[in-house]
Amino acid sequence: SSRLFLDPALLQAQVSIPPTTVATAVTDQRVSHKFCIVTTQSIMAPSKLKRANSQIRGSGHSLQGSRPGRESVHQRRRGSFHAKQQAVYDLILLQNVDEQAVIDNIKELYDDDIIYSYIGNVVIAVNPFKSLNIYDDKTIEEYRGRSAFDPKLKPHIFSLADNAFNDMKYRGRDQVVIISGESGAGKTESSKKIMQYIAAVSGSSDKVNAVKNKLLNTNPVLEAFGNAKTNRNDNSSRFGKYMDIQFSFSGDPSGGVITTYLLEKARVVRQGEGERNFHIFYQLLASGKGKQLGLTGAANSYRYLNQGQSTSVSGMNDANWFKEVDQGFDFIGFSADEKESLFAAVAAIILLGEAEFGAQGQGAKVTKVDPALLKLLGCTDDQFNRALTHNTVIVNNQQVVSDLSPTQAGDARDAMAKALYDRLFKWVYERINKAIAAPQNAIKAVIGLDIYGFEIFKSNSFEQFCINYCNEKLQQLFIELVIKTEQDEYLAEGIEWTPIDYFNNKIICDLIEGRPKGIVALLDEESIRPGDKSDDVWLEKLSSAFGAHEHFKARTGPGDKSVPERSFMLVHYAGTVSYTVTGFLEKNTDTLFKDISRLMFESTNPVIKACFPEGDEKTWAGASKRPPTAGKSFVDSMKKMIELLNTKIPSYVRCIKPNHQKAPKMMDDELLKHQVQYLGLTENVRVRRAGFCFREAKEAFFTRYKLLSDATYTGWKGSVDDVHAPWVHHWFQILDRVVGPSTSLRAAMAKTMLDQSISMPV
Ligand code: ADP
Ligand code: MG
Repeated sequence: SSRLFLDPALLQAQVSIPPTTVATAVTDQRVSHKFCIVTTQSIMAPSKLKRANSQIRGSGHSLQGSRPGRESVHQRRRGSFHAKQQAVYDLILLQNVDEQAVIDNIKELYDDDIIYSYIGNVVIAVNPFKSLNIYDDKTIEEYRGRSAFDPKLKPHIFSLADNAFNDMKYRGRDQVVIISGESGAGKTESSKKIMQYIAAVSGSSDKVNAVKNKLLNTNPVLEAFGNAKTNRNDNSSRFGKYMDIQFSFSGDPSGGVITTYLLEKARVVRQGEGERNFHIFYQLLASGKGKQLGLTGAANSYRYLNQGQSTSVSGMNDANWFKEVDQGFDFIGFSADEKESLFAAVAAIILLGEAEFGAQGQGAKVTKVDPALLKLLGCTDDQFNRALTHNTVIVNNQQVVSDLSPTQAGDARDAMAKALYDRLFKWVYERINKAIAAPQNAIKAVIGLDIYGFEIFKSNSFEQFCINYCNEKLQQLFIELVIKTEQDEYLAEGIEWTPIDYFNNKIICDLIEGRPKGIVALLDEESIRPGDKSDDVWLEKLSSAFGAHEHFKARTGPGDKSVPERSFMLVHYAGTVSYTVTGFLEKNTDTLFKDISRLMFESTNPVIKACFPEGDEKTWAGASKRPPTAGKSFVDSMKKMIELLNTKIPSYVRCIKPNHQKAPKMMDDELLKHQVQYLGLTENVRVRRAGFCFREAKEAFFTRYKLLSDATYTGWKGSVDDVHAPWVHHWFQILDRVVGPSTSLRAAMAKTMLDQSISMPV
């Protein structure tokens, strides 16, 4: 697999300084089966560098960073003993690559409201926590079809979107934009900007516009149902989302598919201090829709909505958002009946939280239930009473019914609320998928992956464990593709290479997902074994299995204060998190009493009914197969996701959170440093800079440009002299050396590149 390697730093430098003084092309003997373009920025043996330089005719310049004209802040800040550096748009152009330089550069740009920078084709995005005037149509036009490496353009996520879109459109390659960063760092916003850009630059026939409208409207709808205020982010995604936008052959959006991952449903019945339940609940009440459905109280009067003692979010207008959701549903194609049933079901959950139970003989009875709840749930008083106070199991094909205690009935109520909400969420996105499905002939796709970010709360449970594991997997993918494979490839191609050290988090992924002895495997073992099982026994098993693991910490004894009680700690790539084991087993098995599924299946609300097919008593007999545990399902879905991502051309957005106060113009140095470290940015710069940023299989390149044979090029009558872009001249120098001088060849190449202006400024 012979490749062409091309360093964009070279191209960037090219346009700002005369062509004859730029870095040189080197054809190395040892890699003669390909040609490489190397810049003097690259790590090169001094002898090689000298030879390279001597090949530049009339060389008077050496290649320095990219952005002229700024006085170096670094020099002032860091004293003259440190090399002078200017803030650069692409970190591979830093003169000295060390952590401090990376940090300073990001910070200096941020001070100037430049939130984006590059590491080659990786975009770094720092959350500005204020609206910047850089996403309007005028800006879109500036980036449209322009090179990511054009030094006149500030770095922008639109540039990445443009490159991905063009690569998809002109080369037919599926793309994926992988967006990572901790909670509140700006992942969801980034994914929306990418969608916005693609919508703006693709076709605009009525048919295409209708598709775009649907796709764009999925955002407010899904966020209303899947996002919530947390202490990290006022609009925190509590589910993982993977959205496939499909295109027709002409490059216009023709539809999409949304896949979601594990919704944090525990939030439906419990919220931590300062946090809210999912937005939709508050929207329903604020908009007056709740009142229409029989909910008379305000948000802070409902148990399921007021536990965080924070029912409103500053700067967030719940009533207006509800209007957007309501209209969004219309655009997507939900019917009025569907919406009504859905909102009724959401309202029912709020009132369900008010239901109370008391003792009755050996069992429980409902002592408080709002008649409006029964109406919304579409059931009778009797049905409700029976379902929430009994547990039916199937033994030898017979139903065996037992009474629940009042406490158990309360738990059943909460389980019902969580299950109902989780199923409604699923119903919503599956219904959306039906509405946005592309016709069969859509083949190319751009995927945006927007997941929940790494998070550490005061108390961390099963949900945080899954969320943080998901982030480990994405970091692992990043390492594999951007750092490891990259280095492996240089070695395989025989390119001179000094290995760069990095932390590979595979060890943490293995610790969690390993079978038969990973954390999840042991959780499953404990969850499904017969007899009395408990979270504590699981913790003991973990402690004895991983006590010596460097990424696992458990209490060594009752006196050990380094780990909280009934907890274990994981040293994640992004920080150490302490998980309280309470509730892990229950959340992992995630069983819902049959009585509740039946109640839901018998509902007169068609949406609720559709969400619980297993509540159909006819399906009960015989079927006793245990569904996979939540932990195992999540691990499997992550593995599947990674496999899928591996088949696409990836681009990365690495989001950085500048402070925990969600405040503009404020950079917490320690926080920035921590993120630069765990995101592996410095290593990323080193690998990228030492190597070649742009590479292409030779064959694909030749086919693309038809440049190596006069025979394949006919037609263009222009002359080389018509082409003034300095890089083209330089390119010809290389061609001279590699394929010999040929006017028609040069012309062909210049023409093709001018026509398509693919990834290079002309
Ligand atoms: P994440 O998805 O990583 O948890 P979000 O994308 O939801 O984080 O961003 C959190 C908040 O930060 C947003 O609600 C918004 O207020 C602000 N924010 C993020 N990115 C931008 C941006 N590019 N411009 C303006 N504000 C932003
Ligand atoms: Mg988000």
